[in-house]
Amino acid sequence: MTDPVYRELLAVMKKRGGDFSGMDIPEFFAMVEEMFTPAEAEVNNAMPRGPLAAADLAKQMARPVAQIALILEAMADKGLCMAVRMADAVYYQSARFMPGILEFQFMPGRTTERDKRLARLIYDYKKAFDARSGIDKPIFPTNRVITVARTVAVGNQVHTYDQVQAYIDKYDPIAVTTCFCRHAAQLRGEDTHGMPNDVCMQFGLGAQFAVERLNGRQVSKEEAREVLQRSEAAGLIHMSTNMTDDIGFICNCDRWHCVAVTHALAKPKPGLAFSSGFEPRFEAELCTACETCIDRCPAEALQMGPEAVPLVDLDRCFGCAVCATGCPEEAIHMHNRRDIPVPPKDGKSLKEAIKSDASH
Ligand code: SF4
Ligand code: SF4
Repeated sequence: MTDPVYRELLAVMKKRGGDFSGMDIPEFFAMVEEMFTPAEAEVNNAMPRGPLAAADLAKQMARPVAQIALILEAMADKGLCMAVRMADAVYYQSARFMPGILEFQFMPGRTTERDKRLARLIYDYKKAFDARSGIDKPIFPTNRVITVARTVAVGNQVHTYDQVQAYIDKYDPIAVTTCFCRHAAQLRGEDTHGMPNDVCMQFGLGAQFAVERLNGRQVSKEEAREVLQRSEAAGLIHMSTNMTDDIGFICNCDRWHCVAVTHALAKPKPGLAFSSGFEPRFEAELCTACETCIDRCPAEALQMGPEAVPLVDLDRCFGCAVCATGCPEEAIHMHNRRDIPVPPKDGKSLKEAIKSDASH
């Protein structure tokens, strides 16, 4: 029989929100029982939304500080909560499942038997969750593709938030970790099509946490740019939260394993699910009909047209520019797309947009 502490954990995680927040199904309990010891689940359930010190939580739970501090430390090392240092003190912060705990499990890139079990249990939970909740219902996009700015045609508008480069310039420190989607797939024995794994980027306090707890590597701005170039060459899509300010990460995603991309591709109009706000246009006089762009497109949005120049299906196109970066003739340029709303400014506005979309 399920320990009541895990039933309480279900209620707590649902309240925290985010993706895959919690569902009363056997796959949920199988996953959390592997992830959290009963003592960790109890501490998780008592954690408030904001950061706090071990002593404050111990007081709230009426427990010895040393006992709670030990549990919080173990949880941070397991990626079950966040821990950051501010002015020489450590603060712990509760985490959602996604973005959060589910990704943290695989960012360190470990390959133990427990990691393999977790990869399978998390996959089974997500599949069961999707099957019951339906992933094709329209919802305001929580993620956004960021196009490759150097492919944007001259004269088109590129806002600061449209440029991956701008985020690299803005944040310090920057950390690189293992791609949790592809690493989890490898732990399940799946093919990751030769895509690079060491390309997930975290910024600011998230970077500090990744370096100290998730086996992340702090990188210089130059190294971060090299990671982006390597990702673009491999045909990966730059992706982040759908807001203009203070994004905490940039993922470099593939079409086979990334949760956000596969979810978008399962929708009737993937192009509207998390578009960059750009679309490709083709210069007929430069195009040699080599079809490289068609093969590289992760959304299968391109097909050869009657004039031997590719045609784009905007219902499918994310505006990622993977086609443009691979074109040997530089015949593809990205242009502003008019039917995509400007991203919300911050987390609060994004939450409001999602809420208002869900109520329609
Ligand atoms: S990759 Fe470039 S040259 Fe080749 S078909 Fe596409 S647009 Fe034309
Ligand atoms: S056509 Fe495909 S590769 Fe090009 S921008 Fe659209 S989704 Fe990306």
